[in-house]
Amino acid sequence: MIGLVAATAAGRAQAQRLAAAWPEQTRHYDAPVAEALGHAWAECDQIVAFLAVGAAVRLAAPLLADKHTDPGLVCVDEAGRHAVAVLGGHAGGANGLAAAVAQVLDAQPVVTTATDATDLPGLDDLGWPVEGAVAAVTRALLDGAPVRLDADATWPLPALPAHVTPDAQAAAHLIRITDRLVPADDSTVVLRPPSLVVGVGASRGVSTAEVLDLIDTALAQAGLSPASVRHVATVDVKADEAGILAACAARGWPLVTYPAGLLAGIAVPNPSEVVQATLGTPSVAEAAALAAGTDHGSALAAGTPPGGAELVVPKRKSAMATVAIARHGARGRLAVIGLGPGARDLLTPRAVAAMRAASVVVGLDQYVAQVQDLLRPGTRVLASGLGDEEARARTAVEQAQLGHAVALIGSGDAGVYAMASPALAQADSSIDVDVVPGVTAALAASALLGAPLGHDHAAISLSDLHTPWPIIERRITGAAAGDFVVTFYNPRSRGRDWQLPAALQILRKHRPDQTPVGIVRQAYRHGQQVAITTLGEVDPTTVDMLTVVVVGASATRVVAGRMVTPRGYRWGPA
Ligand code: SAH
Repeated sequence: MIGLVAATAAGRAQAQRLAAAWPEQTRHYDAPVAEALGHAWAECDQIVAFLAVGAAVRLAAPLLADKHTDPGLVCVDEAGRHAVAVLGGHAGGANGLAAAVAQVLDAQPVVTTATDATDLPGLDDLGWPVEGAVAAVTRALLDGAPVRLDADATWPLPALPAHVTPDAQAAAHLIRITDRLVPADDSTVVLRPPSLVVGVGASRGVSTAEVLDLIDTALAQAGLSPASVRHVATVDVKADEAGILAACAARGWPLVTYPAGLLAGIAVPNPSEVVQATLGTPSVAEAAALAAGTDHGSALAAGTPPGGAELVVPKRKSAMATVAIARHGARGRLAVIGLGPGARDLLTPRAVAAMRAASVVVGLDQYVAQVQDLLRPGTRVLASGLGDEEARARTAVEQAQLGHAVALIGSGDAGVYAMASPALAQADSSIDVDVVPGVTAALAASALLGAPLGHDHAAISLSDLHTPWPIIERRITGAAAGDFVVTFYNPRSRGRDWQLPAALQILRKHRPDQTPVGIVRQAYRHGQQVAITTLGEVDPTTVDMLTVVVVGASATRVVAGRMVTPRGYRWGPA
């Protein structure tokens, strides 16, 4: 029972809203507050007090005994803006109650226990249909109670906290991830992954009812949930078949169509010569159910079903329609994420969201450390030291191929002298890839220097680890001849100290000694240094691997201490 205690008319009005939402579970204590709270304390497992937190604490203090037996206490302010878990966050269930109260009153839940459990992905945030005891399981999640996870397959889900595991056999609550019809009860949530594809064939003029009836019966007899249907598929020439279109619209299923030639290339158990003769493919329903899907046209090119597709309902017929159902394996997801130069406010919200959607994070220890606080509890971190980029990229791709949601992180932009290329060179069409751009060092340095990149510019890495020096030299010569502004990445390390002077020497042959040069070390990080000098005077010993060097073009100027490359139409030639 949840006791409701209020001191004022506004508080009582809020309490009535809760009582109306949960008539069976709540009891209103109508007495002077101290007395009301005392009674509720004795009789209820949980209390919602429409009181200031301070007032509630003073009233509750003499009643406190033990956190395992005391009721959970949530306070709600008079305006109904906040629902604060005050006492018994875990054992008393106050954290979960605060969330539930907040939902009813449209308030903000406030939870202050230092727990993993509060930083959870919502059950209905996954974009999948959810059925069953959502409120009860959400409360168990928030209260840190063990929850058993029972998934038919690995899906690319966000990280779940340690108390949600397949091993929690004794748990009172269960999350099932399945496309199968399962019995409902009041401690189980069923998440419906988009795993089923319904292939449909039909004669011209088939009725909506016939199509729906055939699909529904096929699903029901196979024990499959319509909520897991990803889409309905058929052959191109049926794309305008009214009965199929209306059946899809009625259920909100997208319709995907394939050329007959593509379907003809898919091996099926029940081909038909009649269909082959009229449509040019021996199978519509079975082949369309098995075809790989819409998002990845290239995966279809070979015309063979992906390894993960399995026909769970072979072709069935009614008078004018055929249907078959295939289960498709989950596709893992690889997000390649640029973290920007370092400052937290130059990390994009999209990068944060992509990291929090992942259950596995791969990256150099220093970058993982930089964003550790943003990762969801339970995130598996596969960090490593410098070097071995290939191995890091391979690890990330392999984890995605196992079906996980993986984030591969790197500084600046992950595509600039970084992990995106080795990762995508190894990734095949069995995974989804999402590259999230970041502010690369050249842009960070440019912002600190002024506007040095206002006209054509080139980025050149001086690291000859991956590229032979003669090639680097040729590119510098080209940039020099073309009068590009040049940003040097990886400019100088202890073991590589002659390349930068050599590079500057090439540029000096093509532009004046007064040409401005910007040197930016640790841009937007602790210890940031910004200097502007000239091509004639630049001192390479001030440069290291934490630095970029921006050499102006012949038109680049210093204006009021800022490096500016004119766009060309104002100050003469650029
Ligand atoms: N992906 C990164 C670049 C990796 S190469 C990006 O897009 O920024 C590593 C080189 O980048 C370093 O040697 C240095 O030249 C440059 N760099 C990266 N971050 C920097 C920063 N915050 N300040 C200055 N230079 C930086």
